Amino acid sequence: MSADKSRKSERPLSELLRVPTGPVSMADFDPSATPGYPGEGKADADGRTAALGPEISDLQERLYAAGRTTPDAAPRLLVVLQGMDTSGKGGVIRHAISLIDPQGVDLTSFKAPTKEELSHHYLWRIRKALPGPGKVGIFDRSHYEDVLVVRVMSLVPEDVWSPRYDEINEFEAELAAGGTTLIKCMLNVSFEEQRNRLAERLEDPSKHWKYNPGDVDARKLWPAYMEAYAAALEKCNTDAAPWYVIPSDRKWYRNWAVAELLREKLAALGLGWPAADFDVEVEKRRVTDS
Ligand code: AMP
Ligand code: MG
Repeated sequence: MSADKSRKSERPLSELLRVPTGPVSMADFDPSATPGYPGEGKADADGRTAALGPEISDLQERLYAAGRTTPDAAPRLLVVLQGMDTSGKGGVIRHAISLIDPQGVDLTSFKAPTKEELSHHYLWRIRKALPGPGKVGIFDRSHYEDVLVVRVMSLVPEDVWSPRYDEINEFEAELAAGGTTLIKCMLNVSFEEQRNRLAERLEDPSKHWKYNPGDVDARKLWPAYMEAYAAALEKCNTDAAPWYVIPSDRKWYRNWAVAELLREKLAALGLGWPAADFDVEVEKRRVTDS
């Protein structure tokens, strides 16, 4: 059932996409690369992504079952999606995360904080949205905004945002120790491809709702954003909560890669099916006789 046979590389995708430890510059990552992709390219990618569905579905059901039967001991998964506008956080949710039964998914999109959220510590709203036992949490943006947009736009002074990297590492270590597997994905789109995607949105009236004039202002700050991303990828790339950079100029690769990472991390949980807490033979007889 495993897709291993058809995989081009012997190394798991998580190793190929893991941000190396040490100094990070976004220039080191090629947004149009396709590491580990086992097929031809665009032509067979949707099929390959869809083909991961049955295995992901089976593995996720085991996770969900563990959450229902042994909540205190059940693992959790948390997928963190970060990326510039148009990098495809929504597309990944639609095409890769959708392979999971929605009943097992807790999806949260983090927007600019509300007045109430701002009156609390920045991790307050994050803690409230963490996945429960046996669940797969999806963060569309995350606590990383508090060292990305917040840093670039100077929404708080440097002496407030700079200690956050260590604080985030502690927070994530605590989650990992409590049984949460973190899959932190930076969807890496190039400056040029973002221009194409913004232009496309303007050409197509069905995409106007996705266009935000403010995205062009953020685009003007691209180098500052890349610096902020590099800092987050460098400082918060722990073994307990590693970062993966997903080349995202090719949507087909991006969707396949996130689905495959999800499959790999679900499989690594090594979950079986919960044993019945009743006598199966007795129940068979009771059902037959009923
Ligand atoms: P979108 O995901 O395109 O709907 O936009 C959400 C917006 O919320 C983006 O412009 C983010 O930068 C912004 N945002 C998310 N989290 C924060 C935060 N902690 N502080 C400030 N802005 C944020
Ligand atoms: Mg947007």
